[in-house]
Amino acid sequence: MNVLLVYAHPEPRSLNGAIRDFVVQRLRAAGNEVQVSDLYAMQWKPQLDAFDSKVPPADAPFHPSLDSKHAFENGLQSDDIAREQDKLRWADAVILQFPLWWFSMPAILKGWVERVYAYGFAYGVGEHSDERWGDRYGEGTLAGKRAMLIVTTGGWESHYSARGINGPIDDILFPIHHGILYYPGFDVLPPYLVYRTSKVDAVRFGEIREELGQRLDTLWTTAPIPFRRQNAGDYRIPQLTLRDEVAPQTVGFAAHVEAARV
Ligand code: FAD
Repeated sequence: MNVLLVYAHPEPRSLNGAIRDFVVQRLRAAGNEVQVSDLYAMQWKPQLDAFDSKVPPADAPFHPSLDSKHAFENGLQSDDIAREQDKLRWADAVILQFPLWWFSMPAILKGWVERVYAYGFAYGVGEHSDERWGDRYGEGTLAGKRAMLIVTTGGWESHYSARGINGPIDDILFPIHHGILYYPGFDVLPPYLVYRTSKVDAVRFGEIREELGQRLDTLWTTAPIPFRRQNAGDYRIPQLTLRDEVAPQTVGFAAHVEAARV
């Protein structure tokens, strides 16, 4: 199977660098093909702007989504964007690996998402009407592929527990899991987390290899997070709110996960 690892850390000799090397070696040893998009090494351009098209509009004001659509539909996207989209089409699974920075992904990785996820590729896909609201949240260009996060945090596991001060990790990662990965169609696997990175030493790194190795060995069989599909009946369209009878006591992020399957 084909795996794309999108990796965002500026220092190859970091903990993240060691984890990346382990991931690549483990996946290849299991017979997978692996490509790595090492964003700092590639000097990835993070900012979305008019130069994302080979023929930027001369006089018209730059419009981030409509210009993205035009470039995507007319083969005018800059080569770096088109190459990453080809990697996504090639991949059976995509892993995003990064240190948690300010409760989210590093800016360079956010910039990868913003630019590679073009209009017509990751959003604006499918019929938009009063019956359907596009192919998204369970459908879309990347449907049938798996995705997983590998995230390291300075904070302790308890800091990210249900009543921890940072907020539950599932809530913090919800915009990435649901908004960035599930939206264009990925089946999203539970994340692999390394907490309290300052305490990682050779012994702990051995445990990480063991745990993460298990996760990589079961990449193709692990059950995805059971997010609700937009077009499968749980939501009113076009309001896109859950129907009254669906999880009536649940609000917030958790309402979009099928409780019975959790
Ligand atoms: P490193 O600093 O490279 O390494 C961590 C430890 O692992 C070190 O002790 C090192 O000796 C050890 N190590 C490295 N390689 C190996 C190896 N091969 N074998 C064994 N041990 C090894 N944290 C949060 O929880 N929430 C936040 O919102 C947050 N925001 C941040 C924002 C910024 C801008 C920054 C810089 C940090 C932030 N942090 C936050 C902390 C951040 O998440 C951690 O610093 C990061 O996850 C550590 O990963 P690293 O790869 O940089 O680790």
